[in-house]
Amino acid sequence: MEGMILLSPPHIGMAEMDYIHEAFADNWVAPAGPNLEAFEHRLAEVSGRKSALALSSGTAALHLALRVLDTVPGDRVYVSDLTFVASLQPILYEHAVPVLIDAEPVSWNMSPLALERQLVLDAQAGNLPKAIVVVHLYGQSADMAAILQLANRYGVPVIEDAAESLGATYQNRPSGSHGLLSAFSFNGNKIITTSGGGALVSDRNDLIDRARILATQGRDQADHYQHSQIAYNYRMSNVLAGIGRGQLDLLPDRVAARQGVFRRYRDGLADIPGIGFQSDPENSIGSRWLTVIDLNPDLIDLHPYQFMRSLRAQGIETRPAWKPMHMQPLCQGMRFVPHTGSDAVAPGLFLRSLCLPSGSAMSTAAQDRIIDAVRLIAQEG
Ligand SMILES: *Cc1c(COP(=O)(O)O)cnc(C)c1O
Repeated sequence: MEGMILLSPPHIGMAEMDYIHEAFADNWVAPAGPNLEAFEHRLAEVSGRKSALALSSGTAALHLALRVLDTVPGDRVYVSDLTFVASLQPILYEHAVPVLIDAEPVSWNMSPLALERQLVLDAQAGNLPKAIVVVHLYGQSADMAAILQLANRYGVPVIEDAAESLGATYQNRPSGSHGLLSAFSFNGNKIITTSGGGALVSDRNDLIDRARILATQGRDQADHYQHSQIAYNYRMSNVLAGIGRGQLDLLPDRVAARQGVFRRYRDGLADIPGIGFQSDPENSIGSRWLTVIDLNPDLIDLHPYQFMRSLRAQGIETRPAWKPMHMQPLCQGMRFVPHTGSDAVAPGLFLRSLCLPSGSAMSTAAQDRIIDAVRLIAQEG
C-alpha cells in the first residue's frame, strides 16, 4: 500500500484529538457522554433535521429505520438496485422481501419510471411495500421530487440511504432531509469518518426516540432491567463521537475538496471522446464522494477492468462501480424492476464505469498523475 494513491482514504484533522482528550479528561470513555450529545445535535443541524441518533454503523441506521416502521417478516421493501449491499442487508435481517428497483441514466439512482410501474402493480394487488429505500449514489441525489410524489400518492414511507451524500444538496436543502428517515455512514472511506459509525436522522422525534431504545437493548421504563422487545447494541461511543465532532466541523471543506477533485478530472479528461461522468441534475449538487467515469464502449475499446489493472500497476487504486443487486448471488430469485419495460440501466452502468481516487486529501500532483495515466491508457486503447 506504501506509495499507492488510494480510492478514498480517511482524512483526519487537528480538532478531533482535542475532543478525544476531552472525553478522557472527563472520564467519559464509556458509551454515553457529552461528545455524543454534541455530535448528534450538530448532525441534526447539518442535515436539516429535528433529531439525530449516532450509531455504530450506517447499516445499523438502515436496520433501525426498518424496525421503527414495524417491518415484519414477509413485508416487501423496495430498494435501489444499483447500490452497496448495505442498503439491502437490513431488509434481509427482518426477513422482509426486497424488490430491486433499477437506476435511471441521469443521476444513476432509483428510476421513478420503474418505481411507478411497480407501485401501480402492487396497489392493484393490494400488496404495497412497507418502505422504499432510496440510495444517493456516490453522493448524487436521486430524483426525490418524483420519488416522493409517487411515495406520497401511495402512502409509502421513504428511507434515504444518504451514506455517500452527506454535504450534498437537493433543491437547496441538505441531502438526507427529504424522506421520512435518513441514514448516514461515518465509515473510514466516507466523506467524514468516526473510524466506523453511522447515524439515523428524522424530523419525527418519536421515531428517533424509538430507535434510541432499540439501539440500547430495548430497556423498558422501569428502575430494574426490564425488556419486552428484540433490540441491539448499536450506539456510537462517546470517544468516537469526539472524532465525529471534529470531522463535522470540517464537512464543508471536505465536500468542497471532493467537488474540486471531480472538476479537475472532468476538465482534465474533457477532450477524450467516450469518457462521461454522473451529471448534476438541475437543483442538485452532489457531494462527489467518488468521481466515477463512464466509458462509452463505442468510442473506447477497453473494458474498465483493463483500466483498473493498468492503473494498479502504476500505484493507483480504482474500483468498478457497485455491482447491481439483481446480479448478486445473494439476490437470486428476487424481483428486479427495469427502468423501462424492456431496458435495464444498472447493468450497463456497472459494466462501463470505474471509480477514480477521490480522497479529500489527495494532492493536485497525485491527481495530475492519475489524469495523465487515464489519458494515456484511453489513447493507446
Ligand atoms: C457505506 C455505505 C453504507 C453502510 O455504511 P456502514 O457505515 O459501512 O455500515 C450503506 N449504504 C451505502 C450506499 C454505503 O455506501
